[in-house]
Amino acid sequence: MVNDKALVSGFGPIEMVVLQGTSYCNLNCSYCYLSEESRRHSATMTLETIQRAFEEVTSSPFTGSRLRVSWHSGEPLVLKPDYYRAAIETVLNVRDGSPRPDLVIDFDFQTNATLINAAWIEFFKEYEGLVTLGVSCDGPAELHDRHRKNWSGRSSHAATERGMQALSEAGIPFDVTAVISPDGLDEPELFLAYFEPFVPFIREFHFNLHDELFIDTRDRAGASSYVMRYKAFLSRLLDLIASGNYKTPKIRNFASFYNRLFVPAAERPSYDARSMSAPFKTVSIEMNGDLTTFYAGLTLDECGDQKNLYGDGRGLVIGNILESSLSEMAGSEKLKLMMHDFETSHSACESSCDYFDVCSGGYNLIKLRRHGTFGATETPECLVHVKAFADAVLEHMSGSLQAAG
Ligand code: SF4
Repeated sequence: MVNDKALVSGFGPIEMVVLQGTSYCNLNCSYCYLSEESRRHSATMTLETIQRAFEEVTSSPFTGSRLRVSWHSGEPLVLKPDYYRAAIETVLNVRDGSPRPDLVIDFDFQTNATLINAAWIEFFKEYEGLVTLGVSCDGPAELHDRHRKNWSGRSSHAATERGMQALSEAGIPFDVTAVISPDGLDEPELFLAYFEPFVPFIREFHFNLHDELFIDTRDRAGASSYVMRYKAFLSRLLDLIASGNYKTPKIRNFASFYNRLFVPAAERPSYDARSMSAPFKTVSIEMNGDLTTFYAGLTLDECGDQKNLYGDGRGLVIGNILESSLSEMAGSEKLKLMMHDFETSHSACESSCDYFDVCSGGYNLIKLRRHGTFGATETPECLVHVKAFADAVLEHMSGSLQAAG
């Protein structure tokens, strides 16, 4: 069955369902966006909640031709492989009996890899082609262990590395996400050298900056020095990659940017901020069934000081999957208000920011926090993530063209 997109113009289609199997995590990383209370809470999303969620997803008018189910937000591997066998079977059974048996579904885990053992290797082999995983590793021990410790304050690097080695030895490919903190910015060589042995098994590498912890808007000089260091990091990283002296994986940050620049809009998905945060494109479901949308990272636990933004104390939660249908949530007054606020934010960016076409968005709540209004534009995060990144990559391309010509 093909859904009538005209009925749901501006919504979805759902491409990603993020499930919080558990919010518990065996690590206590210094930059984690979940609260400590949440990361110490050992409850589990029930199979009934998963079943209800996918009964809704597969029968809703917001479903496209394929979607990814991602277990994230907490350490998913603290639960046993059998939990996920049952969860995957539940999702696929619901899909097979739904109006959308043709819907292509795959599954993904975002893990710190510290708990990967023989049972997990067996699981990932069993579901090869259906299940993928991404590992969070911040590079060599001297960088990783500064921020990624367990609850007793002990380092986690050795366990993460053992996990990546076990995956490599079993021939299981994985993605890597590395958080680059200020102390790693001056040494891109360390990242490339550290990950080199894993390159044959790394499908994609992605780096993040958690600069909001480090950028103080009142400290203009500090912010501008951070931007300069990030640009120097990117420029050096691109030089090192171009030198051919390191085996390097595909780096998603650069690949996505080149895609935006060089692939005609008609031949690629829309990557602009407005399209990336269309309601029901990404749906995040917390353990208790609470649902948020626009993009991942807006759950009640993550929205911090904005829990009462819409007067109900529930942050950006638009409903609970155990109590309301997706269509009811789509028609709710709260979602209408949120869509208005997000559109105010996107329109302000579109009319005043030269980087709008290369900005993937996701800064709406940051703009509100920093400036007190959705109608604001530039924040320190824009300066770093979007503007410094675009400038550094374009300057590097221009330098390479001049050197070649
Ligand atoms: S960089 Fe900032 S101001 Fe520019 S489009 Fe993105 S969010 Fe808006």
